[in-house]
Amino acid sequence: MENGAKENILYDAKPHVGTDILSVVVKNMRKYIESKGGTFYFDTEMTDFTTVNYGLQAVKLSNGEEIETNICVLAIGHSARDTFEMIFNKGINMEQKPFAIGVRVEHPQEKINKSQYGFSDNRLGAASYKLTYKTDNGRGVYSFCMCPGGFVVNAASEKETCVVNGMSYSKRDSRNANSAIVTTVTPQDYPSKHPLAGVEFQRKLERKAFAEGNGNIPIQRLEDFRNNKKTEALGKITPEIKGKYSFGNLNNVLPEYVCKSISDAMEYFERKIEGFNDNDTIMSAVESRTSSPVRIIRDENYQSNVRGLIPAGEGAGYAGGITSAAIDGIKIFEFIGKNFHKPEDFC
Ligand SMILES: Cc1cc2nc3c(=O)[nH]c(=O)nc-3n(C[C@H](O)[C@H](O)[C@H](O)COP(=O)(O)OP(=O)(O)OC[C@H]3O[C@@H](n4cnc5c(N)ncnc54)[C@H](O)[C@@H]3O)c2cc1C
Repeated sequence: MENGAKENILYDAKPHVGTDILSVVVKNMRKYIESKGGTFYFDTEMTDFTTVNYGLQAVKLSNGEEIETNICVLAIGHSARDTFEMIFNKGINMEQKPFAIGVRVEHPQEKINKSQYGFSDNRLGAASYKLTYKTDNGRGVYSFCMCPGGFVVNAASEKETCVVNGMSYSKRDSRNANSAIVTTVTPQDYPSKHPLAGVEFQRKLERKAFAEGNGNIPIQRLEDFRNNKKTEALGKITPEIKGKYSFGNLNNVLPEYVCKSISDAMEYFERKIEGFNDNDTIMSAVESRTSSPVRIIRDENYQSNVRGLIPAGEGAGYAGGITSAAIDGIKIFEFIGKNFHKPEDFC
């Protein structure tokens, strides 16, 4: 809050900062860390590391610098595919991990408000929801990262790929509610037993989404999705998407078992929220970054198989979302604070 977020994040069950305010908050956090002696390297990547006696010796940066250190927290996020590859090639132990894939759906926020509150009243703010379903074949389908009064955004991190995500500004005042509707995928669905096979599985879907949208976000009406037919025109729901979108057929992007699971789940969710299964519901693809498809293995002292190289947060497979990633970071820095007091403790 002292960095600029509103007070209600302290007591709301689902605290929300808002993308517009978050950019200020993050800047203030950076200034605070700098005032305490921290340094930020922008546009700089850790590209390599060296070891001595199974422990970390130094990290190498893309700007040519080498920093001697025997402790480095690898909080690299779930999209750092080049770094995953680099550390795998350097012998860091990693394993496959389940995650979830699917689509983002959009409904009029007013409909969600009516269903959740029983009536629509601006004073109550934009309503949220959380939905779960289990398919006959045992796969879970659930809503994720629900954004009341939000926008769908293109969150691709590689060329010629398309990834959708969602966000809301602090006022949550766009016309639509959006959320990811995703189904679990497990290592059995991946193309091989290679620890990074889940990344390849993700990348393939993201390339298909890019192709289906001709470089834009592919979108489809729910009825057309069920009929396996490309959408030709919008119905009564207009998408709230930041960036360009094109009509497509999401059956060409996602595996059949995912499409079937989502279709069944949407029917079931209608029982919870009236209008959820509306034929005009907008779907966009592909939701493929719900969490990391890989885990960097660490021991009870948070160490990878190179002592001092400490995997943390979502990319390392120990968190899913801002709060759990932050808590993982706090745990690790408490551990470091307790166990490494003087520079020589780091050896
Ligand atoms: C559009 C969008 C909306 C979201 N909304 C929400 C939300 O409402 N609620 C929620 O809980 N979560 C949300 N998330 C997810 C949330 O952002 C992540 O769960 C969280 O940021 C994970 O934190 P992290 O610290 O593990 O990794 P990240 O925040 O991904 O940070 C990893 C950092 O490491 C850097 N990095 C990677 N490799 C290297 C390297 N080799 N050298 C140096 N730096 C490197 C990356 O550039 C990045 O800055 C959203 C994500 C997106 C994209």
